[in-house]
Amino acid sequence: MEKPSDAELEILLGRAVDWIKEQRTHHRPSSRPFRTLERQELDPFWEATILDEIRVREVRRIEVPPEFARFLSEGLIIGITFIDTVLLTPFARVMGKSVPFHETVHVAQFEILGVEQFVASYGRSLASGLTYEQNPLERQALDLTTRYSNNPGTPFNAYEAVKTALER
Ligand SMILES: [Zn+2]
Repeated sequence: MEKPSDAELEILLGRAVDWIKEQRTHHRPSSRPFRTLERQELDPFWEATILDEIRVREVRRIEVPPEFARFLSEGLIIGITFIDTVLLTPFARVMGKSVPFHETVHVAQFEILGVEQFVASYGRSLASGLTYEQNPLERQALDLTTRYSNNPGTPFNAYEAVKTALER
């Protein structure tokens, strides 16, 4: 992948912010709260205030605008979070209960950082050639989701864990 110039990256980041806001507005009216079983899994780890905000929509596939296709390959995305609105593909169901937790970490990141800062961090990591697992925001979601999946009976305050790590 050819790396974008600084000027090009600034334009792409601005467009990504717009895209995320538009997608959130577009999908939110057709989305649903977490199901009762999903809530039961998440409740010990998250405050009701954040879980109450989140809406989920199941879609057949996740579409990425052509200008971002060189950074994000559509076929590999099983779920995506637009601020407080989560899209899940059928593959997310196969992945099981860890997906709602993972996406809730991203909602927390959006809330703590704001859309612009989230996009700056995520986008700069993509543009610099970091892999999915190396991307700091994904690394955090993966690590916390592993901590949850390994010990679902041992709650921790996931929001505080996200906040503390982001503020370091
Ligand atoms: Zn993720």
